[in-house]
Amino acid sequence: MNLKVSGIVLRVRPSGDNDRLCTILTDTHGVINAYARGARSMKNKNSTATAQFVYGNFELYRRREYYIIDESQYEDLFTGLRDDIIRLSVAQYLCQLAMELIPDEQPAGEYLKLMRAALYYLSENTRPALLVKAAAEMRIMSMSGYMPDLVMCAECGAYEHDVMYFIPRTGQIKCGDCGVGEDGFCLKLGRGAMTAMRHSIYASQKKLFAFSINEQSLRQFSKASEAFVIAKLEKSLTTLEFLRTML
Ligand SMILES: [Zn+2]
Repeated sequence: MNLKVSGIVLRVRPSGDNDRLCTILTDTHGVINAYARGARSMKNKNSTATAQFVYGNFELYRRREYYIIDESQYEDLFTGLRDDIIRLSVAQYLCQLAMELIPDEQPAGEYLKLMRAALYYLSENTRPALLVKAAAEMRIMSMSGYMPDLVMCAECGAYEHDVMYFIPRTGQIKCGDCGVGEDGFCLKLGRGAMTAMRHSIYASQKKLFAFSINEQSLRQFSKASEAFVIAKLEKSLTTLEFLRTML
């Protein structure tokens, strides 16, 4: 019997003469690999819905360790991503991060909602690309078990300060009075960036991307969130490094 899933195509690789091997974030089975036979031909029934970033519905069946896509219908193509290299690069990066962190063969409905919203805002260009990037990467990290502790200064318990330091290695913050001492690499956050960091992990998913922030604070926020990703994964990602060359 066919398996019916909703999902986002995170990555597409060519396979054989005319096939595609798609990595799909699904609602019920996490991240899976699925072949779309003949889908590189424009006339193929699955060619549209098996392109990268597409959100759609897929009917699959299992063949050893892979799935085969039998039927597919797209819901969102997110074509606006192709209008701007930065927004496209953020989308590529979030897809790679999702592949890195989201488990396979497990329900992943919340991850799917998050990724769909991120791709929507990037495609529609209704939120700054860096805001979507930083909020999504903090949220994906938190959902994957890497929850930073941003409530108060780890030393004195201060909630607010003009300057806070974020320590990527531990995911803690320290206030400007306490300083970081032996904690090593840290990033300075002003009030705007600190508020955004907290929002990105404590706000409801519905409100995740619904905040405004000035340019300087956004850069601090984005630098801190990507430093957290690199510290916890103990490596960078090729798509993140590419994005960084353009910022
Ligand atoms: Zn303190």
